[in-house]
Amino acid sequence: MEPLIGVPRARMAALRARMVLWTLPIVADELRRRPGQAIGIWRRFRRMYRTANMMAALTKPMKLGDGCIKMSVYVPHWPSKAIESRARRALRNDFVPPEQVTLAITDECPYRCRHCSNARGRREPLPLPRLIDLVKEIQDLGASWLNIGGGEPSVVFDRALATVKAADERSETWLNTIGFGLDPDKIKRLKDAGLFGGRVSIHSCDPNAHDEFVGYPGAFNIAVRTIESFRKQDMFVILSAAIPESAITEEATLGFMKLGRDIGAGFVEIIPIRPAGRAVIGCTHAELKGHHVKEDIFRRLNDDPDLLDYPAASSPAYLETPDRFGCVAGSERLYISASGDVQPCPLVNLAVGNVMDEPLETIWKRLHGFIPSPRAQRLCSQLGPLMDEQVRKSPGAFDILPLPPSQSNEILVKMATCDLPKVWSL
Ligand code: SF4
Repeated sequence: MEPLIGVPRARMAALRARMVLWTLPIVADELRRRPGQAIGIWRRFRRMYRTANMMAALTKPMKLGDGCIKMSVYVPHWPSKAIESRARRALRNDFVPPEQVTLAITDECPYRCRHCSNARGRREPLPLPRLIDLVKEIQDLGASWLNIGGGEPSVVFDRALATVKAADERSETWLNTIGFGLDPDKIKRLKDAGLFGGRVSIHSCDPNAHDEFVGYPGAFNIAVRTIESFRKQDMFVILSAAIPESAITEEATLGFMKLGRDIGAGFVEIIPIRPAGRAVIGCTHAELKGHHVKEDIFRRLNDDPDLLDYPAASSPAYLETPDRFGCVAGSERLYISASGDVQPCPLVNLAVGNVMDEPLETIWKRLHGFIPSPRAQRLCSQLGPLMDEQVRKSPGAFDILPLPPSQSNEILVKMATCDLPKVWSL
């Protein structure tokens, strides 16, 4: 098995130098192609450099085998075609295209997670030919990070395989899974089709607590076996835990890192539960409330030389703050449901169009009109009370989600304009 290990702090300067040297020919090429934009390209390059340094200071780059380094869950590995095309877009444009796209391919799932953002029940999925075309549309828009999810994508394995096959190397392609029904042979077939890695959900280090949270006995063991199987195929694995923001402590993070080390995860991603989907009424007000998560926890754990063989720990709880990346819903991030509804984020249950009615690019341009850039305020949290009200007054509760375009557009128009988070200023 190829080793998956953290890059020590002492080697960071050398790694940074190699990455800058790799970027320079791309910058030179962009300058040659667009000489009239030289100042803009230079300023965007400085922004890129600043951002990469900020990320590197908080995380631990993870190295898989000899040549693949991953700095962040949501940024493609280096070097790769996906990171190169992302870098070129970042040098060319001030606005942010949808680099992180989650594409649901089914609403089916055997679990009943208390916080599930896709709680709306089963709808008719996109016909396979439309799904395959859509993958190309997604890649043409940007999408250097393509996350195939659901429901649970592995319960429609042939559809998952066809979706992975449809994506080319412009995207780093992930399967967002609970592992249900996946076996080593299926994982190998996904790898051969071009899948980069598995993002596997485990929401507690206590097997019973996890099983209870997802409503399925044995779910913890299924997830653990799945992570181990991905690693045996020399693939990258993320252990993805959704917990209340108040529970993101040093002790809890270290617990997930220990579990991740024992089973082979490269990253531990701790996602704060936000007011979307079933969480709106399935979780308590205190669980959905934002807290100040100290990034020092992550810096310390990722820097600790004694934890070099542990996975890197990361959380949107400190990345989505106004002094960092802010909320990238609808700017850098996009979600498409299994039936084709386009939302700004998996955790914002507003549909701005459906890909059965219009090309994705048309919907994206409309969304870009509502949300032209990343936001200092979190859209999901701003919309939380409204979602709560809508869901509670509906007899079918979650069946109304996502809200249809007529309602969604009205809500988005009213959203107060927002400051630009620090990272995005030129
Ligand atoms: S709406 Fe914004 S803050 Fe909330 S999860 Fe999505 S990107 Fe993050």
